[in-house]
Amino acid sequence: MTRPPSGNGPIPPGGRPPHPGQRPVPPPPPGYGQRPGYPQQPGPGQSGYPQQQPGRQPAPGYGRPPGYGQPSGYPQQPGQAPRQGFPPPAYGQQPGYRASGQVPRQPAYRPPMPPPPAYAQAGAPPPVRPAPPRRGRWASILVILILVISTFLVRAAVRTGLNAFGSGDSVQTTYAPTPGGESAGVAATVDNPLLAGEDLTLVPANCKYTPWSTEVGTARTFFETAATCLSNAWKPVFDEINLPFEAPKVNVSADTNGITTLCTGNSSNFAAFYCSADQTIYMPISQLQTDLFKNDWVVYLSVFAHEYGHHVQAQSGILGKVHQQRRDAGTRSDTGLELSRRTELQANCFDGMYLASSKGGGALTTAQIGVARTDSYHRGDSAGDMRDHGTSQNGGAWFELGFDKNRTAQCNTFSASGKQVS
Ligand SMILES: [Zn+2]
Repeated sequence: MTRPPSGNGPIPPGGRPPHPGQRPVPPPPPGYGQRPGYPQQPGPGQSGYPQQQPGRQPAPGYGRPPGYGQPSGYPQQPGQAPRQGFPPPAYGQQPGYRASGQVPRQPAYRPPMPPPPAYAQAGAPPPVRPAPPRRGRWASILVILILVISTFLVRAAVRTGLNAFGSGDSVQTTYAPTPGGESAGVAATVDNPLLAGEDLTLVPANCKYTPWSTEVGTARTFFETAATCLSNAWKPVFDEINLPFEAPKVNVSADTNGITTLCTGNSSNFAAFYCSADQTIYMPISQLQTDLFKNDWVVYLSVFAHEYGHHVQAQSGILGKVHQQRRDAGTRSDTGLELSRRTELQANCFDGMYLASSKGGGALTTAQIGVARTDSYHRGDSAGDMRDHGTSQNGGAWFELGFDKNRTAQCNTFSASGKQVS
């Protein structure tokens, strides 16, 4: 399909040097992180951004090898019994993404991660302590009552979808898994029907994107129009594999104030994300770094297409299976985080596929694709972040693979090597 501009070369081990115009990334504060706050302004013309040969698999060799340890700042091991009295999980997405790029992320946005949330609890209910040595029947009964009640509350929290994975999500690239809304499709990842056919592709389509503005009504129309185009692009693929496809809901707001979701609860500390529990893509304009990207609306479209990619995963059954596997492995165990990265990087690949479809239909220019490509190389995990999204290099590589190949089978991050999803 559409080929990228020429002049690309292999990505050297360790990644490419920073873009000439790149600003130094401020060292992240400790704790769990969000996507990097876009340290740089995409340069006009987009020359010099890292590229890959069209059709190549994501370049191996960069990034950390698998087997890294737990991210810093995690107070507990996955699967560990919860402490008494910890606050309700407030994950979903990476909180602090807000830093809007140029400003160092505010510590206030990156609170220490709550203890492994509901899933860990559900999987490993609080251990029953040995009965205290003869303090009397009433004391024993009291202890048992407390344990029973706390277990009940924890399970209730799980059922109501107050999160689930602390899968951080963040930024523009996030999904907030929850139990619920996960029964769609076929519960499988690597061998999901969506990834099976070699020719499953998004056909070129000319989307009539409406003008972009940060004014909420205008932005809402923009995303709703894009959502229609995305549905028109993806539904035929689901028809092809005989799976039903329902369009997601889209929630566009000026900011996060007062936005309550099944995935984030009452927290207003989130960025754009997809919540599988209510099948909704949340796009708070204040979290899109519009001060940085200005009228380069293809960046917002790309973020939206990534989130839409999570909906595609949910509809196909990939997301439900991933959630189950993460619960089993421990959401923040090495395996759990690797599953998160495979999920996120696949959404990048789907994002690239959609942009290829849109470019092929004449709705996006080559220059806009360049902007989106550049952007895709700047949203990975930063040092100190929870390793849940993958390196920036891998993020860009998977986006490019999706764009260049435009085949779902090429987006099978679940069959990729550890390096490709590091
Ligand atoms: Zn994501």
